Amino acid sequence: MTVSNCPRCGKMFRKIKKSICPKCVAEEDKEYEIVREFLYDNPGAGIQDITESTGISEDRIIKFLREDRLVNINKDSLLLDCESCGTAISSGRYCEQCKVRLESDIRGVVGGKRGEERLAGSYHSKRIKRD
Ligand SMILES: [Zn+2]
Ligand SMILES: [Zn+2]
Repeated sequence: MTVSNCPRCGKMFRKIKKSICPKCVAEEDKEYEIVREFLYDNPGAGIQDITESTGISEDRIIKFLREDRLVNINKDSLLLDCESCGTAISSGRYCEQCKVRLESDIRGVVGGKRGEERLAGSYHSKRIKRD
């Protein structure tokens, strides 16, 4: 049996499947329900509207978002990471710099499919290739 400390509340718990303790799992589910209901009533709401109206932290909402559990959210107002270099961005998958770089990469390989492969593989290679 594996015992570990819950990263959320610090309590010791028996680790089964989840990385946080059962009490926090229940709490997170409750928070998720609140956010989900809020978005149901306010489709297109941004992250700030949600934190202000529900009192649930931005970190938690981003976590739900990364788990792909939220619909109807206005993603334009969210702080996401560029999939290529990890820079904080407000929308889309890449920062302006990477967008320009990726576009010129694709243009540089006319007719080839290297550009597409780079796009697909950029998530995995982001820490290796930085320029
Ligand atoms: Zn906990
Ligand atoms: Zn970038």
